[in-house]
Amino acid sequence: AKEQGRSRYHLFSNEMHRRIVERHRIADELRVALQNEDFVLHYQPQVDIVSEKIVGAEALVRWKHPQKGLIMPGNFIEIAEETGQIQQLGEWIFKTACKQLKIWLNQGLDDFKLAINLSAHRLEHSDFLSKVEKILLLNNINPQQIELELTESGMLRDTEKALELLNHLKLRGFALAMDDFGTGYSSLSYLKRYPFDQVKIDKSFIKGINQNNDDTVLVKTILSMAQHLKLTVVAEGVETYEQLAYLRELGCDRAQGFYFSRPVPPDEFAESLFASQFN
Ligand code: C2E
Ligand code: CA
Ligand code: CA
Ligand code: CA
Repeated sequence: AKEQGRSRYHLFSNEMHRRIVERHRIADELRVALQNEDFVLHYQPQVDIVSEKIVGAEALVRWKHPQKGLIMPGNFIEIAEETGQIQQLGEWIFKTACKQLKIWLNQGLDDFKLAINLSAHRLEHSDFLSKVEKILLLNNINPQQIELELTESGMLRDTEKALELLNHLKLRGFALAMDDFGTGYSSLSYLKRYPFDQVKIDKSFIKGINQNNDDTVLVKTILSMAQHLKLTVVAEGVETYEQLAYLRELGCDRAQGFYFSRPVPPDEFAESLFASQFN
């Protein structure tokens, strides 16, 4: 038993070692990527569930790795948060999203909101608000066209500070969305504490609606609660017509998911966007 324990320990520590080395490698490569701006934003439509028109989009970052091709955010965002590189990356994301939004607005788009994911680590940085203001000014963007998506897991430990910042952003005109709603431990107290306008039901709940009774009950409960609190509800991860039809029946406001479109590069997004606007 003792020997077994020891070999397990070795396995564990080798695995840990491998992961630490891998993280260091990614962090090093990220430093270069940030210098070269080797990133792109893809856009996924958010659709009004009744009219089925595109009313917004979520910007999702991808790393354009010179050797490995496109790397998905699940493989580097957390590392960027741990190393602090999220400050620079987040600024690039916000700047690039605002530039893109301006292009689409100049092409005649209106009634459109661009959703940008905001890592709570960025709120911790004292420069955050001044950087945001600089980018808005440079691109002549009204914050009312931007929605900031925040997850509970990334939220600040300093809740007073977070509240102050979120109230400020809200007063400034940004819409605030609580992302991955229902997956955290304290989704409800976050909704109560912070000035959110919108909740995004996590895709794990959408998967089973209409088949799995637990998911259906949860989604119904979230929807009725949101209606009472006058929050807009976006269902994410909508993949099938059945899910869409059922969410519509339940009174969900918006849907986002592969059923409509995967996240796509800006040019491809613009094609469906302008087709949806003027048809
Ligand atoms: P998220 O904010 O919850 O983004 C939604 C994720 O679900 C995206 O994955 C999207 O491609 C995926 N998705 C959309 N529709 C469907 C569907 O119908 N079915 C399924 N199975 N998946 C769907 P992605 O782009 O890989 O992003 C993963 C996560 O990385 C995001 O989750 C977000 O937490 C983070 N992330 C992405 N872009 C950014 C960013 O610009 N800034 C920050 N801070 N985080 C980001
Ligand atoms: Ca999101
Ligand atoms: Ca989400
Ligand atoms: Ca997520």
